[in-house]
Amino acid sequence: MDADLVIRNLHVSIGEKVILKGLNLEVNRGEVHAVMGPNGSGKSTLANALMGNPAYQVTEGEIWLKGQNVVGLAADQRARLGLFLAFQYPSAIPGVSVANFLRTALNARAAGQGEAGNGGRGGISMRDFRQQLKEGMEMLRMDPGVASRYVNDGFSGGEKKRLEILQMALLKPEIALLDEPDSGLDIDALRIVAEGVNRLVGPTLGLLVITHYQRILDYIKPGFVHILVDGRIALSGGPELALELEEKGYDWVRE
Ligand code: ADP
Ligand code: MG
Repeated sequence: MDADLVIRNLHVSIGEKVILKGLNLEVNRGEVHAVMGPNGSGKSTLANALMGNPAYQVTEGEIWLKGQNVVGLAADQRARLGLFLAFQYPSAIPGVSVANFLRTALNARAAGQGEAGNGGRGGISMRDFRQQLKEGMEMLRMDPGVASRYVNDGFSGGEKKRLEILQMALLKPEIALLDEPDSGLDIDALRIVAEGVNRLVGPTLGLLVITHYQRILDYIKPGFVHILVDGRIALSGGPELALELEEKGYDWVRE
C-alpha cells in the first residue's frame, strides 16, 4: 500500500530559481513528521508546492494524495482531498469576519465532497457551525470576540497562529502541513497552539510540521524527522535526530 501522501522526486522553482531538487517523502495518517531545515532551504516552498500555490512551479516529480497525483490540481481541489496548510505568514482579509470565513471554508469543502447529513445542500447548519466554532475557540483559548473580527486584520502573532489551528480543527484534514507553527509565538502561546494541535493528532490525521527550530518538537512530538538541505531530504530518522541537529547544527548534515 502506498502512503496517504507520497512525494516523489519533487522539483520546484520560483520563477527561474530552482529550490527543490528531487525531494522524496511519505506521510501516513496517524503519523507525525517533522521537516527541519535552515532558513531559505525551501521549507515554505515545499508547503506551498504541496498545497498548489501557482507561484511555485513543479517542474518534475509527483505528489500523490490518497492515490491521486495532485500536481496540476488547484488548491481548493487539494483541500477537498483532505490536504490543509497552516501558513507561516497568514494573510489578512479585511472585510471578512473570522466566523464568515470559516463557515464559507467548511461549506466549500462539504459542497465539493458532496457530503450528506450535515445540513444538506446548504452545507453545515448554523447551529452545528456555532457549536464547532465555540469548541474550537475554547480549545485554543481564543477570545470569543475574535469570531467577529476581520481575518488576521491587526491580529497578534499568537492570534494568527491560533486561527490557523482553528481552521484545521474545523476542516478536519487528513494531511495537515504546519509551516513554522511556532514562529512569532511566545512560550505561552506556543504551548496553547501545540496543545491544540496535539488534540487533533490521531489515527485520521497525518501531520507534517515544518520548523527551523527544535523547540516546537518538545511539544508536538514527531515519530519521524527529516532534514531538508540543498533542495532534498538529506537525512531522515527518529525524534532523536532533531536533538542531534540542535546540538550539532546544519553544517553537520551538509558534511
Ligand atoms: P524556508 O521556508 O526554508 O526559509 P523558502 O521556501 O521560503 O525557505 O525559500 C527558499 C528560497 O526561495 C530562498 O532562497 C528564498 O529567498 C527564495 N524565495 C522564496 N520566495 C521567493 C519569491 N517569491 N521569489 C523569489 N525567491 C523566493
Ligand atoms: Mg519558511
